[in-house]
Amino acid sequence: MIEAARAELTRLQAEAAGLEPDADSRADLMALAFGHAQAFLGALDEAPANRSWEDVFAQPLDPEFGEAARDPAETLDYIGRSVDRPGITTASPRFMGYVPGGGLFHSAVGDFLADASNKYAGFASAAPGAVRLENATCAWLARTIGFPEGAAGTLTSGGSMANLTAIVAAREALDEPGGGAIYMTRFAHHCIDKALRIAGRRLAPRRLIETDGHHRMRVDRLAEALERDRADGIRPWLVIASAGTVDTGAVDPLSEIADLCERHGAWFHVDGAYGGLFMLCEEGRAALGGLERADSAALDPHKTLFLPYGTGAVVVRDGQVLLDAFSASADYISPLGESGVGPSPGDLSPELTRPFRALRLWLPLQLAGIAAFRAAQSEKILLARYFHARLAERPGWEIGPPPDLSILAFRFRPERGDIDEFNQRLLRRLQEEGRIFLSGTRIDGADWLRCAILSFRTHLVHVDEAISELGRLAALLEAE
Ligand SMILES: *Cc1c(COP(=O)(O)O)cnc(C)c1O
Repeated sequence: MIEAARAELTRLQAEAAGLEPDADSRADLMALAFGHAQAFLGALDEAPANRSWEDVFAQPLDPEFGEAARDPAETLDYIGRSVDRPGITTASPRFMGYVPGGGLFHSAVGDFLADASNKYAGFASAAPGAVRLENATCAWLARTIGFPEGAAGTLTSGGSMANLTAIVAAREALDEPGGGAIYMTRFAHHCIDKALRIAGRRLAPRRLIETDGHHRMRVDRLAEALERDRADGIRPWLVIASAGTVDTGAVDPLSEIADLCERHGAWFHVDGAYGGLFMLCEEGRAALGGLERADSAALDPHKTLFLPYGTGAVVVRDGQVLLDAFSASADYISPLGESGVGPSPGDLSPELTRPFRALRLWLPLQLAGIAAFRAAQSEKILLARYFHARLAERPGWEIGPPPDLSILAFRFRPERGDIDEFNQRLLRRLQEEGRIFLSGTRIDGADWLRCAILSFRTHLVHVDEAISELGRLAALLEAE
């Protein structure tokens, strides 16, 4: 039996050898993959920001999953044709739709190193170096938005998970029995509604607070709502402000909201997934005053720090609250700050086994330096102001308020015909031509175009091109 087992094990080991490429094969594969990435990145400057994707479905789904190993070069070719090409090129400098990220190359290298070593970043005792780095990275994020010592945070997969994590922490801290009321505007991101459902607060009393002409929360209306609830015996639980809405980039008046939360004992959460990390630059700090007074904030390094998708962050002013909400093993885990490297990510979030996310943020911060990030952020804010000013001086364009950060909304007023229909057509045509990618939104029942400038690759030349393309297309559609 032993001999037969040994023979079978030897056979299986040989058959599985494809999972363990030797040093030469690793080098060959990396050279191919690196060449592939270089070609993709090298083409970005001229490649369209949007391509049609019908042809993807005309091709068979290939590779079918076969028993045998495939040729690496052919497999990468397939990815190039069938994945890299079709759809929106979010890495393009001319991608200014939705909320761009960009995808720093340093982060791709960080991911590669993290995946190659596969350090177990869920638990301090398993990977003290990795966990220390994650905690230091989160502490830097917390400091960046002005949180005090004693704050704690964790890296999530994105802003939706960050908001959910914060809302659960707020529930555990202030609304365990339920029944507390929630305050937000209609511009709150839809992930908030999803998070409230997941957190078991779908039916909690919810007050949609009116916005002003800049699409910011009206503080007088919030004060009224809080007072009315108190008078009616309803406990104010959670105020959710936006530090940059996705629609127009509007920042709610955070300081005044903080005052009200303090007065009424409500948890002050800021959804800063799009805008919060603009606190790194001076123009951003001028727009975001009061963020440092939040109880919790959701941030998205995969937006405002230009990372590839897959990294959000939640920071909570009183770190113990986060630990209390998520630690499943508080008895034998050192309390916050007492272990040499700080708390384990596994005790600060719903996750346990998770990727070592910090390296994709830590590495670019080290290799490029913070000044480069700060300059890129200032550049984005100034580009948005420039876009706004340039469009304002052209006939025919109706423009929303000057951007608080780097998103602005605008639309064309045609001489004849329906304005909404015209702007829908304009957007469709722009997207079909594909050179520039913008997206739209609906505000008060009207269609608006929006421009979100947030890729580190987007510069003056691209914004100038977007403005002139918009002018060309508007004239073209008017003539039709
Ligand atoms: C992007 C965004 C979210 C959602 O974050 P994901 O990273 O997409 O999960 C939430 N709120 C705001 C304001 C956002 O911009």
